[in-house]
Amino acid sequence: MEEGGRLIPACMWSSLLDERPSFSTGDVMPVRMSRRNFIAACAGGGCALPLAAQAIGAVGDIKRGGIFYPDKEARYYEKLPDKRIECTLCPNRCKVGDRERGGCGVRINREGKYYTLVWGNSCVGRDGGNPAPIEKKPLFHFLPTTRSYSIATAGCNVTCKFCQNWDISQVWAEQTFNHDLPPKAVVANAKRHRCRSIAYTYSEPVIFYEYMYDTAVAGRAAGIKSVMISNGYIEKEPMVELCKVLDGVKIDLKAFTEEFYEKLVGGKLGPVLDTLVTLREQEMWFEIVYLVVPTHNDDPDDIKRMSKWIMKELGPHVPLHFTVFHPTYRLKNLPRTPVSTVARCRKIAMGEGLKYVYVGNVAAWPDGDPGESTSCHKCGKKLIHRVGFLVRSNKVRGGKCAYCGTKIPGVWE
Ligand code: SF4
Repeated sequence: MEEGGRLIPACMWSSLLDERPSFSTGDVMPVRMSRRNFIAACAGGGCALPLAAQAIGAVGDIKRGGIFYPDKEARYYEKLPDKRIECTLCPNRCKVGDRERGGCGVRINREGKYYTLVWGNSCVGRDGGNPAPIEKKPLFHFLPTTRSYSIATAGCNVTCKFCQNWDISQVWAEQTFNHDLPPKAVVANAKRHRCRSIAYTYSEPVIFYEYMYDTAVAGRAAGIKSVMISNGYIEKEPMVELCKVLDGVKIDLKAFTEEFYEKLVGGKLGPVLDTLVTLREQEMWFEIVYLVVPTHNDDPDDIKRMSKWIMKELGPHVPLHFTVFHPTYRLKNLPRTPVSTVARCRKIAMGEGLKYVYVGNVAAWPDGDPGESTSCHKCGKKLIHRVGFLVRSNKVRGGKCAYCGTKIPGVWE
């Protein structure tokens, strides 16, 4: 991740290990820690002093490092006796004592009031965000060829062993370079970069819910759409509220077994399926991505069961992307997913009746893989020819197939 998180030198680990949240499945990095312990640890290891200075914003540049808005109250929590609270934002339902943080590490209880530490603290890009092709999210049925101004903060509510952005998702907000970027500034940057939408992405936007919500409201007022790129690990009430201000959602359905979620994600499958049903009920535009991890979630029977479930609960027109896994983070021992495996998954899903099934990360230059392009579900003609994130041609006209006039599901205008 460009200008993302800060690594903790090995010499500091031993004094920090007791700071891990209870839901973390890790035994090495990541390590979450308090500012006090960070400074204390740095004092014991000279090599880390410049790092500490940056992380607490003590290097004079107030636009980089530190937390800019530490007093934004969290929107979803219940008060408990003895100044304790229960966070009701995601299915982890953390019970948090006074002066403690929830499992995502970016929400804190102060005197029985719960606060988000990441509102207005985007930690990516040169100005706090990255203008990126919407195809890269991937959202294939959402304003093709446009760019989405992509922001993120530190933190996550799960601990995927194959996380591509672990350097910001598995750390605290004190450990990332943060930009002073309140919602109106996000919208201004999005406009400056000529982006049609703002994407809440990279780490897990559920844990920066209030920031995402307020930015989506500001974006809508300025004519800029909002898309959430999420693991779908969120309680129903906040998701329903969010649907009022979002325009599109991508959900990472990481597997179709509870075992995978327990061992490799540190979460549960059930709540993610519930979120998908909620999105359908709310008539929100959404697409599903399934990262195929060799030997862990590539069983054809599981792919078939999942496809049947999507058909029954969500319908045939939900785009489903099977993407290639690259060895990363704690799963460097595995090989890259063979392209033949994602192609087989696609075939199974289409065999169950799903109409818009794609493959991703297949690097099929120069003409692209047939599974990267969109064809009309009625006449079968190719409508959008893609090569990776590039759109070579687009025959969707006014949301309809240019050949037979069939309405193509998605957000096109
Ligand atoms: S959002 Fe964070 S604090 Fe709240 S329940 Fe989820 S992991 Fe716990």
